[in-house]
Amino acid sequence: MLAEGAAMVRARGIISDVDLGPLIDPSAPFDGDRQLYQRFQHMYEAGAWVLLESAIADLPADLRWLFESGAVTLEQLGAIYRELGATSAADLGAAVARGAIQSIPGLNRSVEAAVAAALPTLRKTIPRIPLGRAVAVVDPILERLRALPGIEWALPGGSLRRGQDFVGDLEIIAAADDAAIAIEDLTHLPDAARVLHQSERRLYLLLERVQLGVRFPHPAGAGSALLHFTGSVEHVRGLERLARERNVELFAPAPTEDDVYARLDLPFIPPEIRGGDDEIEAAREGRLPRLISRADMRGDLHMHSSWSDGRDSIEAMVNGCRALGYEYLAITDHSPRSAASRNLSVDGVKRQAEEIAGLRERYPDISILHGCEVDILPDGRLDFADRILQQFDIVLASLHEAAGQAPEALERRYVAAMKHPLVSVITHPTNRLIPYRRGYDLDYERVFATAVETGTVVEIDGAPAHLDLEGALARRAIAAGATVVIDSDSHRADALGRQMELGLTMARRGWVEARHVLNSRPLAELRGLVARKRAG
Ligand SMILES: [Zn+2]
Ligand SMILES: [Zn+2]
Repeated sequence: MLAEGAAMVRARGIISDVDLGPLIDPSAPFDGDRQLYQRFQHMYEAGAWVLLESAIADLPADLRWLFESGAVTLEQLGAIYRELGATSAADLGAAVARGAIQSIPGLNRSVEAAVAAALPTLRKTIPRIPLGRAVAVVDPILERLRALPGIEWALPGGSLRRGQDFVGDLEIIAAADDAAIAIEDLTHLPDAARVLHQSERRLYLLLERVQLGVRFPHPAGAGSALLHFTGSVEHVRGLERLARERNVELFAPAPTEDDVYARLDLPFIPPEIRGGDDEIEAAREGRLPRLISRADMRGDLHMHSSWSDGRDSIEAMVNGCRALGYEYLAITDHSPRSAASRNLSVDGVKRQAEEIAGLRERYPDISILHGCEVDILPDGRLDFADRILQQFDIVLASLHEAAGQAPEALERRYVAAMKHPLVSVITHPTNRLIPYRRGYDLDYERVFATAVETGTVVEIDGAPAHLDLEGALARRAIAAGATVVIDSDSHRADALGRQMELGLTMARRGWVEARHVLNSRPLAELRGLVARKRAG
């Protein structure tokens, strides 16, 4: 029966890439707290390690980490949960503070001491999931919540809202006078979501084996809750310091974040730059950036069609871009020797040009640029001859191969490509592959300086596996004076919008404004930039 459950989970496409072993039947009715306790009690008694594995995987994350820290047995954990209803590190901390654990029958002072000792490091080993996946999990839930009666607004919190590369806690904050309808609704999500904890204003769900917490503060205090749960810790500490200086109570209930910032005479600070470095100072001095936003974007200059490794036809990509309201787009399939599964041949370039000419007639409301993403070969030359490259409206160049080369060799290849008059953009410059490969360890100051010198644009690529440049590097790029382009690098029409959003998130983390961004400019300016470099 357990194996059937696992098969069912896989068949529903909830988990595709990992073999999880036996799981509990996700379609089994589940009536909340009592059953959660019974389940792990049962698993404990069953004693089989594999079952134990799957049982603890279903616990609220903090309880699982407490168990995995070795501080408590599963039976003791069960007792703590049953007696105190503790589901989070905060609950456990509060229980320790009032000595509640040692007074639970069967437990004692030493168990409480062990829990107390484990708490500070409990969250050090949180399994983090890549941002792209976190967004894919949370976005549909947010949409669903926002459509429900009683919900005034709903936003993600934590590292997700701040657009970090990896997200530990998936949290949603939903302002609600009465959360009953929303909670009832979310407990009946179709995708075999499992309820881990449910109370009047809190719900923990297990979705795609990721824990999602939803908090439902009263609208009157939801702004302060949102700010608190968005972090970062450093940002909140900075605000608290300021609050102490001014003798105001930072987290007294407030309906909006603006109200909280206003207590400190600060303007709203966008979540993507709440890193605790210099954003509070910038806000105090009135020099916060006007971060780039979706409304500034006029086009997308990096995407693949079925002419290389994309899934959809050029026409489908064009229609996707039209639906997003763009003024222009560039189709940029891979060159012959790229590592992609399918590549554009020299002959293909000509036929592709003909297809694009036809689509330009059919869709006069959008400008379709014929581009390519050409590989920079190990010796620094490009994977298309110049006479071919000249035929493209825009040429993007990238490293996809020989990742094992020394940084100096990789840098030489980039410099050679940037000096090439036909190359307008360097894509995903660090070439990281989330979560498998870190980016190149290059001297990026030199790379950005060369970009500026040669009039080459550096990309912020929104493909979930790239997110490259990420925020900190993007900030260094614009500080060096480089122009950036924010692209989806989408391989499917239905991912164009979401991947552009991810690219925008990286850019916003990097304090990037519209004036730094190539594809927030009119097409004529973009063509001018390409032409100027080509003319030398
Ligand atoms: Zn690429
Ligand atoms: Zn690409």
